[in-house]
Amino acid sequence: MKSGLPKKSKDISRWYTRIVEIADLCDKRYPIKGMNIWRPYGLKALQQIDRLIRAEMEKTNHEEVYFPLLIPESLFKKEAEHIKGFGSEVYWVSHAGKEQLEERLLLRPTSETAMYPLFALWIRSHTDLPLKVFQLVNIFRYETKQTRAFIRVRECHFFEAHTCHEDYEGAETQIKEDIEIIKQFFKKLSLPYTLNKRPDWDKFAGAVYSIGIDALMPDGKALQLGSFHQYKENFSRPYGITYEDPNGKHVYCHQTTFGMSERLIGALILMHSDDKGLKFPPAVAPFHAVIVPIIFKEEETTILKTCSAIKIGLEQRGLRVLFDDREITPGSKYYEWELKGVPIRIEVGPRDIKKKQVTLAVRNSGRKLEVKMGEAEESINAALADYAEKLFEEATRINASQTFQALHLEDVKDKRGLIKLPWCGSEECGKACEEALDMNTLGTPIDEDPSCKNKELCSICGKPAKSWVRFARLY
Ligand code: ZN
Repeated sequence: MKSGLPKKSKDISRWYTRIVEIADLCDKRYPIKGMNIWRPYGLKALQQIDRLIRAEMEKTNHEEVYFPLLIPESLFKKEAEHIKGFGSEVYWVSHAGKEQLEERLLLRPTSETAMYPLFALWIRSHTDLPLKVFQLVNIFRYETKQTRAFIRVRECHFFEAHTCHEDYEGAETQIKEDIEIIKQFFKKLSLPYTLNKRPDWDKFAGAVYSIGIDALMPDGKALQLGSFHQYKENFSRPYGITYEDPNGKHVYCHQTTFGMSERLIGALILMHSDDKGLKFPPAVAPFHAVIVPIIFKEEETTILKTCSAIKIGLEQRGLRVLFDDREITPGSKYYEWELKGVPIRIEVGPRDIKKKQVTLAVRNSGRKLEVKMGEAEESINAALADYAEKLFEEATRINASQTFQALHLEDVKDKRGLIKLPWCGSEECGKACEEALDMNTLGTPIDEDPSCKNKELCSICGKPAKSWVRFARLY
């Protein structure tokens, strides 16, 4: 287990490739490239992420649905832009048993075209609106670039919310709510992020506009973790999603979507970790704490019993606790759970029993705390809250050191990270910046005021700038 983990600080790319497997998150040995196995430990982390998403959805009155994986070709082809965007990434099913199907079916790359014909049936009147549903499913995309666990895969765990509204304002209000959801959600992940309105040449297939959720990683590259899309009537027209307004008139709905994927796990791995391994934020950690008994022969029974009692007590108070009673040395357990990023280790030895205490070790600081047995829960909760805060501070510090703003392209040409420049809004100038920086356009900032208040000039053509625009290298 110790062998073969490069230092993250030396080679983050090789480190990432190894850590996802030796930390038991996934297994890449399945014989289809880009379709990996979720191992129990990795799946537990994913399920915590799903739990957080479901909680946010419930708070905002979205209802969970589950649509079929297969979509008939004719439904998929109804929205012309959409098919253009996804056509080359689709997996097709052409046979069932020995029969060739009359109509080909595809594995969903996303679910607009599966859901919208049904929305057209569900929605009758303005009283049926807004319709707000979501699902957590697997999607399939034939990625032709090099696959990478959680970051670029061909079968992908996916969250997608779809909403229908009476008008454009209703849909805009939804996107504002999505932005608020993201704020709450990312706080729990201790993960800083930026929101960027994509330029028109890079918006989602079929969208009026798209907003990307982009997080800057320690290697200076941005990872897109999700997006919101304003569709207006682009899908409701071809799919016939209308409602009857109070005057009896049939009106097309305005629609939005909001999606995120298992890339969130990839971001947590890259951002919250060090040479020793992962550092899961408490909200997502498969286990908040692991109990390690320090066994001496004559005290063995007492120690094991005490550990079991501590585990039960903490679990009753809502903490996720693992009692590691394997017959290997405490040192091996310390090493393994540090690598796997468990926030807190609880050590129980003869000395602790005598003093009616436990010893807590926090993953990031290595600091040890001796706390009274009856006060363990309180101390653990305080340590977890502090730990989450520290992870966020550390990530923010790393991001700040890689974020640059300048008036002139020349001043940031050699920088790596998130670059912000004034922009006239033209595709030509945007693309020129992309080429000069060897980066992608993330878009105009949504998480801060993008306006050029001081009459800044476009960093390429020198005309008055319409807004700031961000660039970064992308994963
Ligand atoms: Zn320009």
